[in-house]
Amino acid sequence: MTRMKNNPKAYGPHVLIVSCFDSRADPFDFLKLMPRECLVLRNVAGRFSTVAEQIAALDTLFHVSQIVLVHHSNCGASHVTTQQGLESVREKRPDFTEFKELEARLPIKEDNYESVIEDLQMVKRNGYLRKDLTDGAAVFWLDVETGLLTRVYADGSTSRM
Ligand SMILES: [Zn+2]
Repeated sequence: MTRMKNNPKAYGPHVLIVSCFDSRADPFDFLKLMPRECLVLRNVAGRFSTVAEQIAALDTLFHVSQIVLVHHSNCGASHVTTQQGLESVREKRPDFTEFKELEARLPIKEDNYESVIEDLQMVKRNGYLRKDLTDGAAVFWLDVETGLLTRVYADGSTSRM
């Protein structure tokens, strides 16, 4: 807190970007961010379902002003199926039974805009993040071959950045 002059709401980073941990999808590279310019959470596929609670915690400390989700082309999460993910867990943990919840949280997705639209809908349905935060969420698709970033809207329409 010393680095932020003990006032995270005034000095902390506000925009929170969620993206895949894939080295081609690093927001500091494709958005040319400076250190501490934004909060960044990275996970498999940049999916919202596995970071929602983390966003709530970060919002308590930093007062997040906007959630930005970025999914990307040729993501490793699009190279396996949900069934393969479930079978892998079933094989490694035969005593596990909570497959319904696991299936809903697996980061597996198709290699298209659908997952980012699905995540935007999940943000909008979230019941514990601030309403203004969920209303203002934005989602993007990164083409890792060209570096082009496309904003994707809930109705499936897009605009290039
Ligand atoms: Zn990925």
